Amino acid sequence: MPLSIAIVGAGPSGFYSAQALISRGIDCHIDIVDSLPTPFGLIRGGVAPDHQHTKRVSRTYEETAQQEGINFYGNVQLGRDISVLELRSLYDVVVLAIGTPLDRGLDVIGGRKRGVYGAAEFVGWYNGHPAYRHLAPLLDRKEVAVIGNGNVALDIGRLLVRTREEMNVTDMPDYAIEAIQNSPITDVYIFGRRGPAEAKFTNVELREIGQLKNCVPMVDPEEMPDEIDPNLSDRDRRLVERNIATFRSFAETDPKGKGKRLHFCFHSMPMEILGDDRVEGLRLQRTQIVDGQAAGTGRYYDIPCGAAIAAIGYRMGPIEGVPIDLRGGHVINKDGWVAEGLYAVGWAKRGPTGVISTNKSDGDIVAERIENEIPLGSKPGRPAFEDHLRARGVRWFSFEDWKVLDENEKATARDGAPRRKLVDIDDMISLINRSQGVASSTSE
Ligand SMILES: Cc1cc2nc3c(=O)[nH]c(=O)nc-3n(C[C@H](O)[C@H](O)[C@H](O)COP(=O)(O)OP(=O)(O)OC[C@H]3O[C@@H](n4cnc5c(N)ncnc54)[C@H](O)[C@@H]3O)c2cc1C
Repeated sequence: MPLSIAIVGAGPSGFYSAQALISRGIDCHIDIVDSLPTPFGLIRGGVAPDHQHTKRVSRTYEETAQQEGINFYGNVQLGRDISVLELRSLYDVVVLAIGTPLDRGLDVIGGRKRGVYGAAEFVGWYNGHPAYRHLAPLLDRKEVAVIGNGNVALDIGRLLVRTREEMNVTDMPDYAIEAIQNSPITDVYIFGRRGPAEAKFTNVELREIGQLKNCVPMVDPEEMPDEIDPNLSDRDRRLVERNIATFRSFAETDPKGKGKRLHFCFHSMPMEILGDDRVEGLRLQRTQIVDGQAAGTGRYYDIPCGAAIAAIGYRMGPIEGVPIDLRGGHVINKDGWVAEGLYAVGWAKRGPTGVISTNKSDGDIVAERIENEIPLGSKPGRPAFEDHLRARGVRWFSFEDWKVLDENEKATARDGAPRRKLVDIDDMISLINRSQGVASSTSE
């Protein structure tokens, strides 16, 4: 009997796992389940809309999804529509590829004021994620603070200062373009606790900040280190040197002629969100590096801002039947193994680190483990799963349904844009029902 395998999560790690299982020639049926009607995880909902070249990787996942033996079940949420225990009773193997969808909280005084956002919700908002489309962030002041020194902070900063022309050719939803373009934002501050040598920006993304149409990067040349940590590997040293050279070139840029500024503020630790019930400013403590870590100096400064967006990492929420490492924010596992027949891959396995391709080896490892550890199938899988969904009244989306949405998004795009994203699940259901000429409540 073929193995019945449920992969929960249709992001990169879910698709790489499915592809690895197929490539090994394992006799199996694979059902890829996702809480959203649309596949591709953070490729659709995280990767910046002005980086369409990066999003193109989803074409590979499309090919995987359309292979014999693989089905997609969108709009099915683990923990709401089916439990881990139920899935494990129906499938020989369950692979958790659910990423780390929640924000790590910003631990500062006043961190719950209106106008404080986490990157998951803010990025989800500008990327048209159905859960965050109503966020309506406060963008009514000239200054915005972004906290964090990784590429996600850069993405957010960059998108807040892009021109309308630059945004129009992306798949950013109209509501996000209008909100940003109609805002008075002129200055975005990106804060890092440590220095430019410790920042996690990749150099290509950093250099892009110097090429924006109406924004100039600002950095204090005094912040540049006199020397680079001699203990770094050659590779890391080269990466740091490249970033420092880029920052130095920013420091020499003439800001004249550009209307907006993106300020890189190093050695600055956020301490307090200022304001009554909403963000009016941010209080920071100057830091110095002691043994590679940022230590407070007791010197403080304030900047005015109307919103503070924390890009300081992601975590998983609790899921019944899944052991979670609260510190790392991921599933407790031994090289992908969680319990008999239960595995984890991608960010759910490792926590929120690495680029898209980093998830590929997780798929290879889990496929090898499954081949060795679960050689024979004995559980019903797909038909019993569909019975379960029907009994619960779940309106699931097949991959063919997604293709209908995909075609519609492409056909309705703004001039020059790749697609106009559907952002409301009810609208997606209506569209599929219309395309099928039915008003059914399940998709088969
Ligand atoms: C803002 C941002 C920008 C990024 N930009 C880049 C970039 O430019 N280049 C790059 O190489 N990498 C980038 N990355 C990293 C890259 O996106 C990740 O490495 C990759 O998406 C992780 O894949 P994953 O499959 O583990 O998780 P995800 O992509 O998060 O996929 C998880 C899937 O699980 C689903 N899911 C979650 N919970 C449930 C549930 N309870 N039930 C059912 N389904 C569920 C989600 O809907 C999602 O589809 C970026 C990450 C972020 C956050």
